[in-house]
Amino acid sequence: MDSKFYTYRFRIYPNKEQLAYLDEQIGYNRFVYNFFLERSINLYKNYGVKTNYHSNSAVLPLVKKGFSFLKEANSQSLQASIKNLDTAFQKFFKKQSGYPNFKKKGVYSSIVIPQRFAINNNSIEIPKLKTAIKVKFHRKFYEAVKSISISKTATGKYYVNMLVEKFAFTPYIPKKAIGISTGIDLGLKDFAIITTGTSINDKESFKIPNNKYLIKSQKKLVKLSRQLGKKVHRRSKQDKTTASKNYIKFKNKLSLLHEKITNQRNDFLHKLSLRTVNDSQVVVLEDLNIKGMVKNRSLSKSISDVSWSRFADMLIYKADWSGRQILTVNRFYPSSKTCSTPDCGYIYKGLKLSERYWTCPQCGTLHDRDINAGINLFLEGLKQIGRVSPEFTPAEYAPAGIQSIGYSRHTMKQEACGFSRG
Ligand SMILES: [Zn+2]
Repeated sequence: MDSKFYTYRFRIYPNKEQLAYLDEQIGYNRFVYNFFLERSINLYKNYGVKTNYHSNSAVLPLVKKGFSFLKEANSQSLQASIKNLDTAFQKFFKKQSGYPNFKKKGVYSSIVIPQRFAINNNSIEIPKLKTAIKVKFHRKFYEAVKSISISKTATGKYYVNMLVEKFAFTPYIPKKAIGISTGIDLGLKDFAIITTGTSINDKESFKIPNNKYLIKSQKKLVKLSRQLGKKVHRRSKQDKTTASKNYIKFKNKLSLLHEKITNQRNDFLHKLSLRTVNDSQVVVLEDLNIKGMVKNRSLSKSISDVSWSRFADMLIYKADWSGRQILTVNRFYPSSKTCSTPDCGYIYKGLKLSERYWTCPQCGTLHDRDINAGINLFLEGLKQIGRVSPEFTPAEYAPAGIQSIGYSRHTMKQEACGFSRG
């Protein structure tokens, strides 16, 4: 059967005893991974022998005898570590990468628990641990869980990752198109402008405001970065100054805030992209030149740009899951300059970035530039659904700038290059 695997990630809150247990298990897995990595490199370097999962796991019982502390380790997790190493090594053998890296303490690390776990209403149970670990399930899911892994971030937070299998299904598809436009300078308050509907006469446009907590954090980030710059620290490579205690304190504060912003942003974008994809058959986006935008821009603006490219990524893979179509419009397509009034289609070539509103000299309609752009993208989506009325075919409405993004992630990478982060 056609199926795909994907992962749900939830924060877990281990107590003191559980923390100690998880850290221990992470340590055992790191040890085993590094042990077999060294062994595999030696065998390959000195004898040309290519190890694999089976040859390594056959040796595991001997290693456990030699290092008695491994008795406390979950054997299935250790085997999973050897399997992960094998995946990395097979890539190396195929010359797709260099030797896999040794795992270091204190960086992002994880352990796989392939079997004998239980998922309760607000906790999980794992082998060898007598008590259940508290989990915050921030969303519902109904798929069966194939395996779980527990990860620890560099800042000491713990998550459970649940691998589930999604079966191919024929989704319910609403006959709606959505055009999403973002004015380059929508700013902090608003994130995007959306036009949604089923026909030229049945449509509505609205502004999507940014999450207000996110705005607050972003403002704080700008302030904190400024403060950090003033503390005593190295200004160049030649500079021998040691960073002050205050500098280190602010730097830690800043990395925590970055993490918070990432979480707040992802939460906002996940909800918005899910709603958008659920509501529509075709979503049309502008393929903005993110790389060009990030240059010479303020910190808070750069964050919005990154949000936009992340949002596009989410829309693309969520559309892929549920059989929706994403279209991107080439950034040279004049979506803000083209009059969106039916039967007009005038192109206002002289539109400046500073002009938020313009009046069409041909039909006299007053346009908000971003809403107008959203409507044009929406109309393009309708055209794809085949719902646009045959009378409405302005000559300038050439679909040349439109590219369709296929359902396979492979084509997505090639065509969505406009969204790559710079
Ligand atoms: Zn017009």
